[in-house]
Amino acid sequence: MEFSLIDRIRERTAQGRDDVRLGIGDDAAVVSVPAGQELAVAIDTMVEGVHFPPGTRAADIGWKSLAVNLSDLAAMGATPAWALLAMTLPKGDADFIDDFATGFAQLAQSYRLALVGGDTTRGALTISVAVHGFVPPGKALMRDGAKPGDAIFVTGTLGDAAAGLQLLGKHGDDDARSLFLIERLNRPTPRVAAGLALRSHATACIDVSDGLLADLGHICVASGVGAEIDVSLLPRSSSLLDLFDDTTSWDFALSGGDDYELCFTVPTQHIAAVQADFARLGCGATKIGRIVEGEGVSVRHADGKPLELTHRGWDHFTS
Ligand code: ADP
Ligand code: MG
Repeated sequence: MEFSLIDRIRERTAQGRDDVRLGIGDDAAVVSVPAGQELAVAIDTMVEGVHFPPGTRAADIGWKSLAVNLSDLAAMGATPAWALLAMTLPKGDADFIDDFATGFAQLAQSYRLALVGGDTTRGALTISVAVHGFVPPGKALMRDGAKPGDAIFVTGTLGDAAAGLQLLGKHGDDDARSLFLIERLNRPTPRVAAGLALRSHATACIDVSDGLLADLGHICVASGVGAEIDVSLLPRSSSLLDLFDDTTSWDFALSGGDDYELCFTVPTQHIAAVQADFARLGCGATKIGRIVEGEGVSVRHADGKPLELTHRGWDHFTS
């Protein structure tokens, strides 16, 4: 493919790492996995019009295409190391490539993540990023370990990205609160440090990409348990609370996708340690409910009354 475009990407994402023996430029990259570590690998694809609206800034697409993948590594408790980037572009647009690579590199730099290769093809705008990270043997955080009695936590705040999507292009979307919510949609923060801290405490962990109900539901199915959530405990940002009523903001927090926070379960004797860790980390973690015997996720008000739900998360093949 056009080498000048690949060179533009390589220049902007350059990252010195001793474990990259051979990066962009040959038929394959060659990397060395540290002795005694396991490799966690993940890939996610973003398609224009499906995962981001047409008109999204190239730098935001670059950031987000990496962020959603780092979020998967975070949910496994893995330390990011390398990435591959497959780009399908409608045309060889140097400005788009430069801005995309700049957004990608802004996030990659904070983790010293090296882009070691990829592929570039022509077609409808589609970005696939694959990431590789390290985890000590047997320490990866999985979905199947939640036990009845465990507390359920989430990092950060929920519902912001869904609110941001609704605000895009609307009158008043330059209001500071709207800008915050739109930024949460376009530039999610992968909770990598939180995932690492959770390796010693969590029984199960997942990142919230499809909405809390859907993703906590995956933990329940994998672990053979149910979950009870108290809607009054759901962490919501002040911008979300300012701009939307309770019913709408709960709906966004429960069913809106794209937040990329971590949802995890913790045995009660570990709660104090988790709270101490999160006091250092900056993103915060909020207890929202508990794991119970049975199946499915039930949502209640503080007084115990069930919440009427309108929809249950984003699924590309069923909704
Ligand atoms: P090949 O025909 O061997 O697949 P390519 O022309 O596709 O070669 O790629 C040449 C080099 O550039 C390879 O090292 C590949 O990994 C890298 N590369 C191609 N596209 C990208 C991209 N979008 N991002 C990063 N590296 C890329
Ligand atoms: Mg190729």
